[in-house]
Amino acid sequence: MQNRRVLISGASVAGPALAFWLRRHGFTPTVIERAPSLREGGYAVDFRGASLRVLDRMGLLGQVEAAATNMGEVSYVDADDRTLVVTPPTFQSGELEILRGDLSRILYDATKDDVEYVFGDSITGVTEHGAGVTVTFERGEPREFDLVVGADGLHSNVRSLVFGDESWYRRDLGYYVSIFTVPNHLGLDHVGRFYNEPNRTIGVYSARDNAEAKALFWFGSEPLAYDHRDVEQQRGIVEEAFADTGWETPALLRRMHEAPDFYFDSASQIKMDTYSNGRVALVGDAAYCAAPLSGMGTSLAIVGAYVLAGELAAAGGDHTTAFTTYHDEMREFVAVCQKLGEGNGKWFVPQTRAWIRMRNLNLRLLPHLPWRKVIEQLPLKAGNAITLKEYAKVPA
Ligand SMILES: Cc1cc2nc3c(=O)[nH]c(=O)nc-3n(C[C@H](O)[C@H](O)[C@H](O)COP(=O)(O)OP(=O)(O)OC[C@H]3O[C@@H](n4cnc5c(N)ncnc54)[C@H](O)[C@@H]3O)c2cc1C
Repeated sequence: MQNRRVLISGASVAGPALAFWLRRHGFTPTVIERAPSLREGGYAVDFRGASLRVLDRMGLLGQVEAAATNMGEVSYVDADDRTLVVTPPTFQSGELEILRGDLSRILYDATKDDVEYVFGDSITGVTEHGAGVTVTFERGEPREFDLVVGADGLHSNVRSLVFGDESWYRRDLGYYVSIFTVPNHLGLDHVGRFYNEPNRTIGVYSARDNAEAKALFWFGSEPLAYDHRDVEQQRGIVEEAFADTGWETPALLRRMHEAPDFYFDSASQIKMDTYSNGRVALVGDAAYCAAPLSGMGTSLAIVGAYVLAGELAAAGGDHTTAFTTYHDEMREFVAVCQKLGEGNGKWFVPQTRAWIRMRNLNLRLLPHLPWRKVIEQLPLKAGNAITLKEYAKVPA
């Protein structure tokens, strides 16, 4: 086996999952994460289709199931909190749902004993030479690796360093999203309540067995110029976008300022013709972000990590062969999942009152429509749009 020393940038979902499989296949992964410690907290993410089989092959399905959100129905309500329409659990929560931070913790715990994790640092330079890659860091000393993988999300640092400017690959879908933790002041019991005004969706769903709730703000907008690290500025953008919005909005906005885990970003996709350049590859959102509206990002990250590690093992560590087959295996799956993300916005964040009414009517009629199953099965079909190979493991 060649090219055993693999540096992975990012310790959220794709990074630790890749480290898990690389280790199983006999590689020596190192994971570097910019945050000072594992980033816990955050929003709910779903698994559909093939990703569940990967979790099962990792032996982690039981742990993920034990930490599942067990979310029930989500209701769309009017300004007086009267229910207009109720959607079934699978609509928002997939086949299995867990908080992203809990998933990160499970993946980290499963790898930390035999994978080197470096927190609080970031790659500053990647220089490829004949036999490997010299990597420089913000804090640590330069090190030698055989391969480098960017698992560092939508705004991937590795992608910028090795593949070029983010703007070449990022496609904004025309929406922004903010999510943060709030007290469960509505007393929600494993359910969510969503409210719409034109171009705006506000939601709140219970989390951690109702001990807290997640507030969710979506709005449609032209691209906004803002500083990715300036949280105060981002809170200001959310406040402005939702000024004069009814229902629970003012109460949730007041709580935004105390939230421990404020998140704000554009709903964007990453589209690339190739996921590798020489000895450097990308996985998860860094390579093929499908946008939160797809509900497929976590599935893509988990499956992508499995395929990338498996192909490297199958090629005996030959990165040129492995990176090509990794791309070939993933391409169709990525396209199907991204398509799902592109179409969902107009339903989830309707632009006009007429569209809000039409959406609600459709949801109300859905249980009685003959093509109900087809619509309900769409995300599941996307989740299964890949046939997983069996990759031989190095005996432990
Ligand atoms: C609001 C929201 C809701 C979502 N809902 C769903 C859902 O319902 N279902 C679903 O499947 N998916 C959902 N997703 C998508 C899902 O969260 C991502 O697709 C998934 O987390 C991808 O994992 P990743 O590891 O590729 O990237 P990320 O989770 O983005 O992780 C990237 C990691 O890299 C680290 N990092 C960043 N820069 C550097 C650097 N310079 N050096 C080192 N480390 C760095 C970050 O700190 C982070 O830990 C949602 C996403 C959002 C934003």
